[in-house]
Amino acid sequence: MSFPDIVGDIAARAPDLRGRLSANAPLAPYTWFRVGGPAQVLFSPADEEDLAHFLARLAPDIPVTTIGLCSNLIVRDGGVPGVVVRLGGKAFGEIATLPDHRLRGGAAVPDMKLARAAADAGIDGLAFFCGIPGSIGGALRMNAGAHGGETTDVLVEAGGVDRAGHIRVFTRADMGFSYRHSDAPDDVVFTSAVFQGRPGDPAEIAAEMKRITAAREQSQPIRERTGGSTFANPRPHSAWKVIDAAGCRGLVVGDAQVSPMHCNFLINRGAATAGDIEGLGEEVRRRVREHSGIELRWEIRRIGLSA
Ligand SMILES: Cc1cc2nc3c(=O)[nH]c(=O)nc-3n(C[C@H](O)[C@H](O)[C@H](O)COP(=O)(O)OP(=O)(O)OC[C@H]3O[C@@H](n4cnc5c(N)ncnc54)[C@H](O)[C@@H]3O)c2cc1C
Repeated sequence: MSFPDIVGDIAARAPDLRGRLSANAPLAPYTWFRVGGPAQVLFSPADEEDLAHFLARLAPDIPVTTIGLCSNLIVRDGGVPGVVVRLGGKAFGEIATLPDHRLRGGAAVPDMKLARAAADAGIDGLAFFCGIPGSIGGALRMNAGAHGGETTDVLVEAGGVDRAGHIRVFTRADMGFSYRHSDAPDDVVFTSAVFQGRPGDPAEIAAEMKRITAAREQSQPIRERTGGSTFANPRPHSAWKVIDAAGCRGLVVGDAQVSPMHCNFLINRGAATAGDIEGLGEEVRRRVREHSGIELRWEIRRIGLSA
């Protein structure tokens, strides 16, 4: 599968671009599932101004999709048309400690690194991030949370760039957070965030992070090729319970399997395609609907075209 190469046209419209553009760039290696087709164009901006310059000059009919660490994402086998933005490097990967127990982090910073930086600085309240294998950008979009904490509890403001190339700032209220969701406009690429913690003892925070890590190792298939929680909990039920009750634990489609350890995790046993994984998810939804009448909603984001 490959797309027409439009890199030359894009570069011609934005001659001062400093970031990297690649045509038909494989995305599977970036994803936790290790599946999926290429990006028609992969863009790695040099910094926020470069991203804004790029988006302002990109033809409006070219779709833009942002990826983070792809820990909650299925990239479909036919790849992603248009431009995929992936932030990386120093401009988006640094953390700064601010006065009043605050931290600023670039959107490409892994959540775990943010948690560790907070602990080292004696800033409590961000330890829950240590168990989430995504980036700050993904946490902002997904209102990532665990162990009693959520992004919404600690966010002061987020920076980003919209599709027209305007640099914008979103307060916590602007983010419109709800369970694993933000109402911030879909076209915004988040570039940074400021978090508020409270004074804490580094040794106690480190001990809490150790407890969180141990609890995860026991309950989630964190060493597998997975995408985290597949479906949102259908309140007041738990997704894993209704999936288990419908007899789906260990269910297999192609080389994709419902994790025998945690029923709300799908895993790639090695040779699964994105089609196998998505097909397995749809089969789980069908069986749960038939068994209990509950409609499961995908929490994992699915992007791109089917093969
Ligand atoms: C083993 C495992 C355990 C997990 N446990 C948890 C958990 O306990 N709690 C939890 O909340 N999640 C959990 N997850 C899911 C996942 O880690 C989170 O949803 C995380 O926030 C996704 O971040 P990411 O950088 O990987 O985003 P991606 O998966 O790359 O993308 C997810 C969404 O965020 C968007 N996005 C990413 N970066 C940006 C950006 N810079 N600007 C705008 N949009 C962006 C994407 O477009 C997409 O819509 C788990 C996943 C795994 C694999």
